[in-house]
Amino acid sequence: MDAQKQHNPLQSDIKYLKGVGEFRSRLLGKLGIKTLGDLMEFFPRDYIVRNRSSRVADLIPGKQNSFVGRVTSVEKRRLNANRSQLNVTLTDGTDALYCTWFHFGAWLQEQLHAGCLVWVSGSVTTYRGSFQIVHPELEILDKNSDDTPSFWHNRQVLPVYPLTEKISMNLMRTLVYRAFSLYAEAVEETLPSYLLEKFGFPSRYKGLQIMHFGQDISLIESTRKRFAFEELFYNQLMLARCMRHHHRGSEGINFELKRTYTTVLKQQLPFTLTSAQKKVIREIVGDMTSPSQMNRLLQGDVGSGKTIVTVFAMLLAIENGYQAVLMAPTEILADQHMRSISALLEGQPEINIGLLKGGSYRGKRQMIKDIAAGDVNIIIGTHALIQKDVIFHDLGFVAIDEQHRFGVEQRALLTRSGRHPDVLYLSATPIPRSLALTVYGDLDMSILDELPPGRRPVETIWRNSNKNNLTYGEVRRELKRGRQVYIVCPLIEESEKMDLVDATSVYEHVSVQEFPEFSCALLHGRMKQEEKDVIMRRFKEGEISVLVSTTVIEVGIDVPNASVMLIEHAERFGLSQLHQLRGRVGRGSAQSFCYLIAHPPLSNEARVRLHTMVSTNDGFVIAEKDLELRGPGEFFGTEQSGIPGFKHANIIRDQELLRIARSIAMDIVSQDADFTEDRHAAIGKTYFTNFIKGEKLFMA
Ligand code: ADP
Ligand code: MG
Repeated sequence: MDAQKQHNPLQSDIKYLKGVGEFRSRLLGKLGIKTLGDLMEFFPRDYIVRNRSSRVADLIPGKQNSFVGRVTSVEKRRLNANRSQLNVTLTDGTDALYCTWFHFGAWLQEQLHAGCLVWVSGSVTTYRGSFQIVHPELEILDKNSDDTPSFWHNRQVLPVYPLTEKISMNLMRTLVYRAFSLYAEAVEETLPSYLLEKFGFPSRYKGLQIMHFGQDISLIESTRKRFAFEELFYNQLMLARCMRHHHRGSEGINFELKRTYTTVLKQQLPFTLTSAQKKVIREIVGDMTSPSQMNRLLQGDVGSGKTIVTVFAMLLAIENGYQAVLMAPTEILADQHMRSISALLEGQPEINIGLLKGGSYRGKRQMIKDIAAGDVNIIIGTHALIQKDVIFHDLGFVAIDEQHRFGVEQRALLTRSGRHPDVLYLSATPIPRSLALTVYGDLDMSILDELPPGRRPVETIWRNSNKNNLTYGEVRRELKRGRQVYIVCPLIEESEKMDLVDATSVYEHVSVQEFPEFSCALLHGRMKQEEKDVIMRRFKEGEISVLVSTTVIEVGIDVPNASVMLIEHAERFGLSQLHQLRGRVGRGSAQSFCYLIAHPPLSNEARVRLHTMVSTNDGFVIAEKDLELRGPGEFFGTEQSGIPGFKHANIIRDQELLRIARSIAMDIVSQDADFTEDRHAAIGKTYFTNFIKGEKLFMA
């Protein structure tokens, strides 16, 4: 692979490009530019279109306008001892425009002089009868000096690149232009010609030229699609190959449906399974009783009953003599799984269930021994399960709860142990389809799209904090009915600066002033595990009526008698977090309520979030909106390391392109998985040079 790298100059370090060197290569590195090829693929964030700019005479006050003109005068006015103002007059022959800076660096004054051709953009106001822009965005198009490459003179469309300190726009344009004039012939095609023809895409070589030097905005936009397609296509090729790998391998375990433990469980269940649960159990059993390894993502909104489905799969594994593991992202959640699964299996004492958590505690070493000896059949735990000293006796099934909280590598670690156990990934955060296809497109998917019967949708109320009297009155009414209440706050301690209502002061307020007759408790992340456990247990058993907490209760807690979720500073929470919190109530048959207490002023985005929460209970709708507002990286939080970073594709805007890329990738892999046909030569070369590493990580 390294030999191949050296053949192509585009893989060589950017520091060797004339005008870069060690220092600038570090700065360019911050922009993700490490090689010549990276620079060529470093696309403009915007374009200046000269003839699309307004004439001064046509500028519209109050609106965003852009404009190209010549500087007629530059004047610095002293306002007082240490402040001055820079006034620059521009004209395009139709009228004059004044640009004013109140804060400016010396460089600005040095660069601007009468005769310069500039592009400015900003909101136009009128000042004493003339047009004015204060602090415009500025671009010097022609300074009549040497360091502007002559190539860029008088271009109708100019690229605008993202920059970083000490890398100016002029420098960036110079470097891009230089890279192309020296190395353009090294650009290699990455798409087969029959696909280029099918979509009318330009070649890669032509496409790169258009993105940087194109003079036609609509051509630039259609060319962007070529690069977006290319990224999505390779992502989907990788997933298609992984999927083929999972399905083809006969190295998985072929479980037999013995119906011993599973039948007892079915008979002892206190409820009947929903038809969605039955369907999903059938899908899972189908995978497990087939010779290939199961890799299945189970999505189901909070409260849809994923636990019981998982328990059926576990029993199928252990009635075949294997061990089954359930890994949870937090200790609270692992504890809860331990309790609820123990309760479900009470009638089957021959099944041994073990719990493994982080840190050191009494009995842990013995548990690790029991796991290695095969004395426990079902093991529930946290990250502690993937520590080196944990060795399974015969692991046959793995379930990973809230799987997006674990990185690809962590998942691989667990699924690698034993002899290819079947794996079920659980997600209570519904994942928008476009994201699921790019991140989990190699997994089979099951969806629990039905809630157990008798649940009433949670009534959601968005209310400002100045109506707290009303809100607390309504909460008291619920408490008097014997129900329990969660109050969630964003921070633990008082912070004068941010003026946040913190859990401690809310706790003091509600326990002393609002609900002195009810028992209240405080739960936060800095408490010791044992303290948290005691409080959670007392809340579950109904001894505590009002639980004030930080977001430690976010995932998975199940207390059916709780009917109110009150979220302080709801405007500060992300959408999926709000949805998760709301999912803590509405688990019994009583009508439940979720109060979103907002403290104005609210940003537009916060309004959109709160409005979304009030208008729907559908986790998929909420997830879609969340993805749109935050982008894929943040949607999963920082722990997810398996998210492909797309440079050119936008998985929300390019959903249709994704669908097409997926179906073509699937077809190609099913016919020519190793790209050996002549017509796939370009794919083979690109794939085995750039993507094989990622594929190995995925397939581990
Ligand atoms: P989640 O999908 O959020 O993990 P759980 O598995 O915790 O949901 O289930 C939520 C609650 O619903 C639990 O109290 C569980 O016992 C109950 N439950 C699950 N399936 C059914 C069903 N078919 N009918 C009634 N209640 C159910
Ligand atoms: Mg759950």
